[in-house]
Amino acid sequence: MAASRDSNAGKAQDFLRRFRAKPVGHFIDGEWCADTSGETFETRTPVDGSLLAEVTAGNARDVDLAARAAERAFADWRALDGQSRRKLLHGIADAVESRAEEIALVESMDTGQPIRFMAAAAKRGAENFRFFADRAPEAQNGLSLPAAQHVNYTLRQPIGPVGVITPWNTPFMLGTWKIAPALAAGCTVVHKPAEWSPLSACLLAEACADAGLPPGVLNVVHGMGETAGKAVTEHEAIKAIAFVGESATGSLIMAQGAPTLKRVHFELGGKNPVVVFADADLDRALDAVAFMIFSLNGERCTSSSRLLIQDSIEAEFLDRLAERVARIRVGHPLDPETDIGPLIHPEHLRKVLGYFDIAVAEGVTIRAGGRLADAGEGYVEPTILSGATNDMRVAREEIFGPVLTVIPFADEAEALRLANDTRYGLAAYLWTRDTGRALRCAQALEAGMVWVNSENNRHLPAPFGGMKASGIGRDGGDYSFDFYMETRNVCVALDQHRVPSLGR
Ligand code: NAD
Repeated sequence: MAASRDSNAGKAQDFLRRFRAKPVGHFIDGEWCADTSGETFETRTPVDGSLLAEVTAGNARDVDLAARAAERAFADWRALDGQSRRKLLHGIADAVESRAEEIALVESMDTGQPIRFMAAAAKRGAENFRFFADRAPEAQNGLSLPAAQHVNYTLRQPIGPVGVITPWNTPFMLGTWKIAPALAAGCTVVHKPAEWSPLSACLLAEACADAGLPPGVLNVVHGMGETAGKAVTEHEAIKAIAFVGESATGSLIMAQGAPTLKRVHFELGGKNPVVVFADADLDRALDAVAFMIFSLNGERCTSSSRLLIQDSIEAEFLDRLAERVARIRVGHPLDPETDIGPLIHPEHLRKVLGYFDIAVAEGVTIRAGGRLADAGEGYVEPTILSGATNDMRVAREEIFGPVLTVIPFADEAEALRLANDTRYGLAAYLWTRDTGRALRCAQALEAGMVWVNSENNRHLPAPFGGMKASGIGRDGGDYSFDFYMETRNVCVALDQHRVPSLGR
């Protein structure tokens, strides 16, 4: 998508026009349902605050309609043979790819994420569908577990209708990451997208319908977390909740789902360390450090928001990083040259700006940025906070913006102590040329995912997820199916097996 900002803006307006025409409805049982509650909420672009759409605010009744539709559709969907399900999911991937430009532009305007990153949103979403499409035929295969006098074998069956609740930061990609494996497993879905960026969920539902997904298999209910989201987590027909969002919301969902004994899968927040040792390939480490905190506006769960840097190279590394940061372009998200767009929402902007005041009060040096950018109201400068210690709020709390907190360390033991001294445990990044150290540190780091001499490379069969306050459960490959399916055991006695007798 190398088109100019003006041509992108023109196309974006064409794609967005229909959302302005009437309130965006829920998608329930294959139908777009206008306004059943009578209430709507606004979604505005962070570019200039202008209105993109009025969106129907779902309530418990809407969620009930969607959950019942998912429940009715489940019997046929689970019974569909794997090859047919595979074909259908590839059809969805085709439909997503055919609308790649629309998805990118709508997503960029709704979230403020730069088009240079959102251009890949449809491609990555389609890849998620293709990967799980190819696994669908074997998803229900079990194991044979022979014993001396019995044969045990396992069956894998879809758990039932599931709720998928997603956040605002990269909504299209995250939605497909949850919905594709759920459908491949044979589950039906009620999706509650984030209220700050709800539009691309409509495009995904349309792509699914266009590809021939039967009514009720995927349903979308828009609305607030405390009403629509809560109702999804409490509904008795919904058997499991796949949730991506804040750790505090995960705790609420666990409590809300307790009366109906919901199975939960949580992908939550992070304060991820990137540990750079003096013996690292510093050019590549520099690229990775800058990319993993300043791409996607820093609104990224796996962002490397804490730089732990060996003290012997701190001064040189920070000088070079500051030079890089000075060249990062903050601007309109539809400009192909833009690296950082506006933050999602004025409320989130206030939160991020608040951390600049906290940093000053904590005595941290603002090495770069630390203020609003010239580009406009919603834009902040990429920021480096140096001279921090790990007990400070800027080192402990998830800021979720383009803000890097830098903490020096003396040796490996201190690096590991600082890296693990956090409530979170999502990702950790490690830069060293010493193989022994890399293996030792990878083992000791308390994070669900460790990337060594690499940025956030994804391999779809590999497990993705966090430890500690960063999550419960794993996505990717069979790990996803473990969540969306029940594994059952059947034990069959061989002929000679003698049953213990009582009272014979
Ligand atoms: P959030 O927790 O505020 O909201 C996420 C979703 O939950 C939204 O759809 C919201 O409406 C819904 N929700 C809110 N309250 C609810 C309730 N009581 N019951 C049911 N649903 C409810 O998170 P956010 O601000 O949208 O997203 C940012 C957070 O997401 C960050 O903490 C980030 O780290 C995390 N995140 C994690 C991953 C990961 O893979 N670990 C990926 C992306 C984002």
